[in-house]
Amino acid sequence: MNILKDSFGRTFPYIRMSITDVCNFKCGYCLPNGYQVDKSDNRKFLHLDEIRRLAKCFSELGVNKIRITGGEPTVRKDFFEIIKVLKFESGIKKVAITTNGYHLDIKAKLLVDSGLNGINISIDSLNRNTFKNITGHDRLPEILKGIENLQDLEFNNIKINAVLLKNINSSSKDFDEWSNFIQNNKIDFRYIELMQTGENLDYFKKYHVSSKVFKNYLSENKWIYQTFGKDAGPSLNYIKPEYKGKFGIIAPYSKDFCKTCNRLRITSRGDLRLCLFGNTGISVRHLLQKDSQLNELKDLILKQMQFKKQSHYLELGETGSTKNLSKTGG
Ligand code: SAM
Ligand code: SF4
Repeated sequence: MNILKDSFGRTFPYIRMSITDVCNFKCGYCLPNGYQVDKSDNRKFLHLDEIRRLAKCFSELGVNKIRITGGEPTVRKDFFEIIKVLKFESGIKKVAITTNGYHLDIKAKLLVDSGLNGINISIDSLNRNTFKNITGHDRLPEILKGIENLQDLEFNNIKINAVLLKNINSSSKDFDEWSNFIQNNKIDFRYIELMQTGENLDYFKKYHVSSKVFKNYLSENKWIYQTFGKDAGPSLNYIKPEYKGKFGIIAPYSKDFCKTCNRLRITSRGDLRLCLFGNTGISVRHLLQKDSQLNELKDLILKQMQFKKQSHYLELGETGSTKNLSKTGG
């Protein structure tokens, strides 16, 4: 079988696929003014058949997991159809989503019934006001209720991500709140270090804080670093025997972050992006129009792998063509 491998020996069993740039939230670090139509790009978002063909191609290239992201993926009218097609018609074994949790209370059952394998929910704070200030939406209660509903349905592969923000959600009190939350919830909670994008430089300068603050908290509170195999991806994980959940850190500015990179991205308009921040990437959409183009598509993707760079060079202030993460599917 062909396997996706780059020139640094990294393999790619995992794809992130954005299905829309549209989002209904206004997170300060991502879309502070809400989603704006991109007038420079009038291509439509990938349609269901294109998504199916692409997923089939990746499955034949050895990919076993696709994470659907955006923008906010659940705003697409055919969102549940997409999940079902990926899950049951593409050969991909695991399908997960990253979502802001909008209407999660109502959607929990539909999500479970769609065959979804995992869900990452973005919750930057357990404090209702702080959550509202960051996202522009007073929706924390409905999201937490959604998590309860998922758990009642015995859906257990739940992760929560929060972007670590200086003086907003980075105090020991915030960390304690999450610690209490995961004590009896089998949920992985991870802080992501704020990343600089083409549009958020001022926000970044004001709110970026090194994830060391959280790392220090973890070691002071006797959390144990858990090591994983080569394919574990870039999250550092911490456990405590008496806790049902785990803590994690995603620190893109740390040395060696890219060494364990195991992901490629597809944008909502069908561009293959080799790195969240790279300029390298090309449209593969012309090869998604007919089932008979499958082999040509595989060849193109395999050839592109040699262009994946060793690192994102973020620490040098390089953001590539990434204006904000809703565009590349963070
Ligand atoms: N709308 C969905 C959500 O928020 O979960 C999916 C798309 S969002 C771009 C994916 C993830 O990227 C979210 O967890 C979000 O917090 C994170 N994110 C967005 N902008 C970021 C930035 N500048 N630095 C770090 N993480 C960021
Ligand atoms: Fe929307 Fe997600 Fe960006 Fe927040 S992080 S604005 S929810 S795409």
